[in-house]
Amino acid sequence: MEENLECISCRKPKAGLTCELCAEPVCKSCVVIIPTNEFDFQTELDEDLRHERYCSSCYTNTVLPAQEAYLETMMKARDIFVFFSTQKARLPVMSKELDLVKIPECIDRDEAILRMAFQSAALGHNALIETEVVYKKVRNEGYQKMIWAGQGRPATLDEIRLQRRVED
Ligand SMILES: [Zn+2]
Ligand SMILES: [Zn+2]
Repeated sequence: MEENLECISCRKPKAGLTCELCAEPVCKSCVVIIPTNEFDFQTELDEDLRHERYCSSCYTNTVLPAQEAYLETMMKARDIFVFFSTQKARLPVMSKELDLVKIPECIDRDEAILRMAFQSAALGHNALIETEVVYKKVRNEGYQKMIWAGQGRPATLDEIRLQRRVED
C-alpha cells in the first residue's frame, strides 16, 4: 500500500520527503535544503545542524538562528585585527588563548587567515596575533598548485591603545 503522508508544514498529502531533524514528512515545496558547506568555517557544529533537509518549523527554530549567529561571527571575523609573528612592536594584549588555532590546508591565503579570524571571533576575541601563513607547492598530475597552511593565536587587544599607537 502506498503511503499517503501529510506534510508537517502545509498539511497537503503525499509529502514525499522527510525532515532529517524531526523525522516528520515534508513536501517538495515546504522543504528547506541547506547546502552541506553552509557552516563551513565553524569548527564545531551541532548535530542538529548537520542535515540537508528541514521542515519549515525546524528551519525557523534551529537553522535560522544558527545562520544568523554564523553571519554575525563572519562579520566580526572580517574586522579582526591580524598581526603576524614578524610584528616586533608590543601589542596591547588584554587576554589571549593558550592554544593556537591552526588551518592545516587551504587553497587560498586570505581564506586561511579569515578562517583563523573566524575562530578568534567565535571565541569572543577581536584579534589574531603571532599569525603565520606558509605555502607549499604541490604537483598534481602535471600542474602545480599552492596549498596554504596557517596558525595564529586568538587574542583580545585594547582597541583604544591600539588606535592611539596607529595614530602616533
Ligand atoms: Zn508542504
Ligand atoms: Zn522538522
